[in-house]
Amino acid sequence: MAYWDYSRNHGERTWNQKWKCGTHQSPINIITKNTVRKDGLDDLKFHGGKVKLALLNKGFNISISPLVSNDDSHINRDKCQLFVNGGPTESEYYLKEFHFHWGDKSSKGSEHEIDGHKFDAELHLVHYKRNQHASFVDALNHECGLCVIGIFLEKKDDVTTNPVLKDILDMTKHIPYKGDTYTGTKEIDLYDITKEISTEYFTYGGSLTTPPLSECVRWIVLKKPLYVSSSDLDNLYDINADTMGKEKFHDPCQREGDCACAEMPKIRNNFRSCCSINDRIVSHVS
Ligand SMILES: [Zn+2]
Repeated sequence: MAYWDYSRNHGERTWNQKWKCGTHQSPINIITKNTVRKDGLDDLKFHGGKVKLALLNKGFNISISPLVSNDDSHINRDKCQLFVNGGPTESEYYLKEFHFHWGDKSSKGSEHEIDGHKFDAELHLVHYKRNQHASFVDALNHECGLCVIGIFLEKKDDVTTNPVLKDILDMTKHIPYKGDTYTGTKEIDLYDITKEISTEYFTYGGSLTTPPLSECVRWIVLKKPLYVSSSDLDNLYDINADTMGKEKFHDPCQREGDCACAEMPKIRNNFRSCCSINDRIVSHVS
């Protein structure tokens, strides 16, 4: 795949020259008064127990995956712990990986907006319909091949961060530079973070928010944010965007100006701007 990042030269304004962009792109600003209430759906259900997590610093973001890969369609289903069903999903969607989008200390960083409000960060739990598609890449070619759960993070003083979220944010200290990997030693009950907030959400059909921008995603954006303390959120702001030992560093998130710099850049402002909703209807469940 062609190179891309969030900088001026390789950032979102250039993506549609290299990848096909339809009219159902994500993220979007969700205007609540235009959403349509959806009744009669089953509860959204999260399945699976504790897993160890593998982390990777990609320079423009970090990617975290469950240690037992759900990628292999031949693998014994009992070994693949984490999946979601119910709600607006018409099938089981298995966890591939998850990541965050965030801003910098002075700006907001979520991708989706609610009535124009941006949150401090947004967690994306990326699932795909493994039983129907041969691989994750195959699922990208199908409408509803993926189901991404979007969870807003909101900074709050005097709040105790959800312990699972805190464990994950703490683990990012082990991948300070681009290319770093780390496998957690602790088993994490990932879906614990959805426990008290998954009954109310918005849902619509959209796309990946990064290249290849495939319009293959059933989005489920939870209404209630996860509250996180400033010091826990700081872990994201501290992650470096390049490798050590260079004369000039590349800042993949420098949206204006020169993205070559003398000092090690941090990964910040790795979010895509909101896209037009066009003919789509956003449903809400509460
Ligand atoms: Zn994302």
